[in-house]
Amino acid sequence: MPDLERHELIQPLDRALVIFSHPDDAEFGAAATIAHLTAAGARVDYVVTTDGGKGTEDPEVTSAQLTAVREAEQRAAADVLGVGEIVHLGYPDGYLEPTLALRRDIVRQLRRFRPDLVIAQNPVRRQDGNPFIGHPDHLATGEATLAAVYPAARDRLNFPELLDEGLEPWKVRQVLVSGVERPNLFVDVSGTFDVGMQALLCHVSQIPDPVATEERVRQRAVELGEPVGLALANAFLSILIG
Ligand SMILES: [Zn+2]
Repeated sequence: MPDLERHELIQPLDRALVIFSHPDDAEFGAAATIAHLTAAGARVDYVVTTDGGKGTEDPEVTSAQLTAVREAEQRAAADVLGVGEIVHLGYPDGYLEPTLALRRDIVRQLRRFRPDLVIAQNPVRRQDGNPFIGHPDHLATGEATLAAVYPAARDRLNFPELLDEGLEPWKVRQVLVSGVERPNLFVDVSGTFDVGMQALLCHVSQIPDPVATEERVRQRAVELGEPVGLALANAFLSILIG
């Protein structure tokens, strides 16, 4: 298969929205890139689709307790990265589907924040031998996000009730899909890897072995950067929306 055309981050890039399933997904997928964006002066906000209420093996912890802990961890991580607002859509963790209701909820946030750039999860279940089977919430959030970006946020006759909320159509210019098999955009994160790691490690409830996690994330950044001559990289599928 031929290589995809390489893309770069669009300029100017004033606002970015990161849309993901669980507190910690944004940092696992893109913390150093988010730090790179905020350091360059962009405003970055988050939309979290689920309540994160199932990510524990501790039989003593309830979903409500876990959701509260994870919201606090997410706020702490966002503060490290200079992220602004966090919108929690609050769908139950583990049961997410790419419904019209979820698509509308994401369109609402796209029209509120009016981002130039969206960072999205991969809606495609990978079968390339990577060790993760793919979380169903990630697939659902990825699909709903891409469907929200195009065409629903852009076209005014989609979800006309949003016009009644004063939310005019919005055209996103670039989408970065994380966790893809064939990336075509590589962000040099040599200068922001450490702050990205500091943010990731705020998710204390999800990271029992911080040393091993840091090693794994660093190794991944090395592997992604190596083919393109970068010491440390995050990598995405970039879609430029015409
Ligand atoms: Zn997740």
